[in-house]
Amino acid sequence: MANAPHGGFDGGAVAYDGTVEKEINLNIALRLQKMLQFCGAEVIMTRTEDTATDTRSDETVARRKKSDLQNRLGLMEQYADAVYVSIHLNKFTTGAASGAQVFYTPNFPEAARLGQCIQDSFVASLQPENTRVIKEGTKSTYLLKNAKVPAVIVECGFLSNRQELERLKSDDYQAKLSFVILQGILKYREQE
Ligand SMILES: [Zn+2]
Repeated sequence: MANAPHGGFDGGAVAYDGTVEKEINLNIALRLQKMLQFCGAEVIMTRTEDTATDTRSDETVARRKKSDLQNRLGLMEQYADAVYVSIHLNKFTTGAASGAQVFYTPNFPEAARLGQCIQDSFVASLQPENTRVIKEGTKSTYLLKNAKVPAVIVECGFLSNRQELERLKSDDYQAKLSFVILQGILKYREQE
């Protein structure tokens, strides 16, 4: 299951130049969907357009956000044998931080393995200098805390790093990110 977080009313993180996280997340997720399907996997997308998954648009933003997350969790309940890969972009207060990092749910031991496979794939294929380690999702990460299937959040890079931002905006680099995540998922499936 591929999750492009945010969408519609919820743009996610915003870079200094106005680049919005939700659009890049979706591009990467859509490419990943095609690649996974090409490899014979069945893919469930939480969204394929610029819309959030909340059900009531007349609510406050906080309630819509909650509803959006609950609906994404609901999808997990429907597909109990899936793994859940959520594609985000990071943002930090200084411009120095860069590189991908995977977070995993503590609810399933396989999630750490999936996270490690994806992190390893980043280092092997795209970011040899990346020394980040996978981390258990904190309690504030609603989806990871409540995950009903092995779930990971892939933070693909930092919108707050100007060089990385330029890469993240390019089609070519987005395709590479999708491919790296694909490799990680395939590796995880191979190990099963
Ligand atoms: Zn995000």
